[in-house]
Amino acid sequence: MRDHEWACVGRPTWLAALLGALALIASSPDASAADCPGHPNALGTSRILVVDPREHPRLGAMQYKETLPLRDHEVVITFDDGPLRKYSNQVLQILADECVKATFFTIGRQAKADPEGVRKLVAAGHTVGTHSQNHPLSFNKMTLEQVQPEVDQGIAWTKAALTDPSALSPFFRVPGLLRGDAVESYAATLGLQVWSADFLADDWRNISGAKVHELAMKRLEARGKGILLLHDIQARTVAALPKILADLKAKNYRVVHVVAATPDRPATPTEPEDWLVHRPSDETPVAHWPAITPTNLAGADTRARAALDDFGNLDLPPAAARTLPKPSWPRPAVKARIATAPALPAPSAQLFAWPPAAPLSARRHQVVRVEGQTATKPAGRPVRLAALRRR
Ligand SMILES: [Zn+2]
Repeated sequence: MRDHEWACVGRPTWLAALLGALALIASSPDASAADCPGHPNALGTSRILVVDPREHPRLGAMQYKETLPLRDHEVVITFDDGPLRKYSNQVLQILADECVKATFFTIGRQAKADPEGVRKLVAAGHTVGTHSQNHPLSFNKMTLEQVQPEVDQGIAWTKAALTDPSALSPFFRVPGLLRGDAVESYAATLGLQVWSADFLADDWRNISGAKVHELAMKRLEARGKGILLLHDIQARTVAALPKILADLKAKNYRVVHVVAATPDRPATPTEPEDWLVHRPSDETPVAHWPAITPTNLAGADTRARAALDDFGNLDLPPAAARTLPKPSWPRPAVKARIATAPALPAPSAQLFAWPPAAPLSARRHQVVRVEGQTATKPAGRPVRLAALRRR
């Protein structure tokens, strides 16, 4: 899978930049919203954002220092874990009724079981990326040898489902957002862009559709823009989606459709700083984020900032466990992890269980608080910040 066409997207030339600008003009908000036959009041899709995975290999404010260069009140809607006919078809219909384009991260096993479901996504004009072959909730612990077949087969089965395999986008989301060095490195060798998210709506939990809608809007309004992560395999998501789209319309949010750059389709011109995740104080209540001083992560490739209480129990990945002495649970562990790691720790594996597992109520969701803690210095081999900066 190393030699496919995703690797050959170069930096845009002046001509490419001009074409990109023209494409932006062509996809003005009014044009696409008005082009929704039978749905004159549709939310529509305001613009197409063309991104180059090579220039921005990892994104999503929950785990990385970069996220999509969205303007205020712009939203990118993403769905994971499908296709699952029963619910994915309903999601597609709801999106079609509003002429909204989204991004779907499919599971290879699902694509193998329902190849027509994958073709439907592409036929409807959505972006399709992949989400591994079997959705193992262990990517944070996997070796490169273990990562490779999961990523490759997920791509292969999704491509096999497509009439035109080139319709698959080089976008990848790690199951459970269980990021790890091996999967990120391997994704980079394939020219894949790893997508985390900017906010969640907890639609994999045992909550109502009304709650999913409430969380999606509350978290969007806290940020003002961003990438929303949903699942097209959940009844509660199907229930919540029409209300979310109606609210987006009522509150003047605009949906952005993200596609990958190709030699014929240059990346939308942006400035490097447009991709940077801003400090929490810029856009969200400080209390919502862990207190992390910028110096802790200066130069780091990724940035530890997210609502840790969204994830509950934290799982130390093998690299951190090797480097640091085993601290007493939980506070020193959390502090040490954040001070030394290039990105957020992986969430509890149960939280993104797939197929949808039993309600999480059996295991109490643990809120981890980081703010106000005193620094704890590892007694063993300390990790030098300089080592982080080299990453
Ligand atoms: Zn998933």
